[in-house]
Amino acid sequence: MLLEIKNLSKEYKRSGRAFYALDNINLNLSDGQFISIVGCSGSGKSTLLSIIAGLLSPSGGDVIIDGQSVCGLSDSEISGVRSTKIGYIPQGQSLLSNLTVLDNVCLPHSFTKNKNNVKDKAVDLLKQLGIEELADSYPGSLSGGERRRAVIARALINEPQLLLADEPTSDLDHENTEEVIRILKGIAEKGTSVVMATHDSRVIDNSELVYVLKNGRLQTVVR
Ligand code: ADP
Ligand code: MG
Repeated sequence: MLLEIKNLSKEYKRSGRAFYALDNINLNLSDGQFISIVGCSGSGKSTLLSIIAGLLSPSGGDVIIDGQSVCGLSDSEISGVRSTKIGYIPQGQSLLSNLTVLDNVCLPHSFTKNKNNVKDKAVDLLKQLGIEELADSYPGSLSGGERRRAVIARALINEPQLLLADEPTSDLDHENTEEVIRILKGIAEKGTSVVMATHDSRVIDNSELVYVLKNGRLQTVVR
């Protein structure tokens, strides 16, 4: 099992009131599996993906990636797991505007101990995603769909076993939405497990395992 989530909870406090954004979540994911987590805005999707990525600590429970519990690790140990095993597509615009597309894609590689020349690999990824001619452009001159593909390339640069995609199709038109989903499914077919969070149930289809997140609780959709 690549990813095991056990009894995970996250409590937030706001205006003196505490509430559970995640309430006893359990989830397993095997190699090459593609799952979608659907929930309306505020249901806890980004909180869940941030905890899996080790960017946020849970209030209880455990996240086990490739047999290793990530919840008790130090910051540098978590960074090590994140940079070698996890590709993360954050919600919204996340490219650095003062770096070219190529340098954005190469960035996560600089956090690894791997000193191989990464540029050829980055160009190859941009080619696979159909945007190699944009390598030397800056994010500000790209369309929404092109930016999203650049972020996918950045998430794949360290050849992760697990790809977390937080609303990867938000703000995209129908054609780009279909293209991004096709790309994510292709990534899963090559063996990388994919967790996609979305508020848009129209982007999921019958081929994938779907979970619904509602009021911090996760339910499997039986179809
Ligand atoms: P989603 O990604 O599904 O829109 P989030 O995980 O962003 O949901 O948020 C889940 C709930 O937790 C929301 O009610 C949100 O307002 C709240 N929340 C998110 N981050 C924090 C925080 N740092 N402090 C307090 N409440 C938060
Ligand atoms: Mg979110």
